[in-house]
Amino acid sequence: MRPISSKMIKKILFSNEVINSFEDEDDFGAAARILLKQQQEKWEKLIEGYNSLKAVQTKVFEFDGFRINVQFNPNRIISSSATIDEDSIKRRKCFLCIGNLSKGQKGIKFNDEYLILANPYPIFPEHFTISNVNHFPQRIKGIFYVLLSLSKSMSKYFTVFYNGPKCGASAPDHLHFQAGNKYFMPIDKDYNHLKKQFGEILFEAPRFSVTAVYDGLRKFIAFEGESEEILIYAFNLFFETYSLLKKFEDEPMMNILFSFDTGIGWRIIIFLREKHRPSNYYAAGDKNILLSPAAVDLGGVCITPRAADFSKITKDHLLEILNEVSVGEDLFKLFKLKFRDNLNKLLLTH
Ligand SMILES: [Zn+2]
Repeated sequence: MRPISSKMIKKILFSNEVINSFEDEDDFGAAARILLKQQQEKWEKLIEGYNSLKAVQTKVFEFDGFRINVQFNPNRIISSSATIDEDSIKRRKCFLCIGNLSKGQKGIKFNDEYLILANPYPIFPEHFTISNVNHFPQRIKGIFYVLLSLSKSMSKYFTVFYNGPKCGASAPDHLHFQAGNKYFMPIDKDYNHLKKQFGEILFEAPRFSVTAVYDGLRKFIAFEGESEEILIYAFNLFFETYSLLKKFEDEPMMNILFSFDTGIGWRIIIFLREKHRPSNYYAAGDKNILLSPAAVDLGGVCITPRAADFSKITKDHLLEILNEVSVGEDLFKLFKLKFRDNLNKLLLTH
């Protein structure tokens, strides 16, 4: 596919003096909020999306010192039930390609190659999709550094996240990320408790640490650090180690949350996945629950687009579903062993 022309990109850019000044200060969080306000007035589909967000309901489940929310959000049905097999993807018009964007939809350019767009099916009070200007497959390898700079630039207000092509991305053929309000996902607040209560330190240096967590539902690896160079190096090591254990996959399944705080640096949470969807998703009769976990669900906001699922879902369902889509305990143990080894061998000499 031919790269998109700069003339086409220009057509959909939204800019004004205020946005430009935020862009100059590298505050893309503030710039994105202004874009959202404009889109909430001018773009019909987004107006509908935010109107239906007003009616969402939330249930809160308390676990061992942390929370998982369940959000009833009918507007998410398209994303939760998206078919992402190769044939279906080829047949549909890519909704992230610039030529196919809706009438009235506008974006802000980030790093020359990306566009910050308002997400018309919001989960967060402010929800964005950040997509590549070209039709290019979803993947994390070689792209991780973009997520570091994006999450830093949006960090005042937002957490940025990535869904792997086989575990949550509804456009696996078009590279994109998302961003939503900081602290909206319970894990943003619960992280320190999770680390203290369930964490196992795999590596620790003065300004960089790697922790593995299994809290009874989710299995994740967290990087905390200030140096982009070390984070990229550690992520590459992570990718290699994880890929070797999950043979035959182009990209081993993962969902990632990126947050950044001045003076502290980045916190990157990588959920390790075994399955795209749990068995409840395919089950017949009463067992059927339409919940298709991705980064936001694992971050503690599980989305049920159907009222019946929202009313019947229990704590036990969440335990079952999140465990089922996460890597198994044996694989996680083996992964921790190998990753700790690689970090100590390679990072110390780096
Ligand atoms: Zn596309």
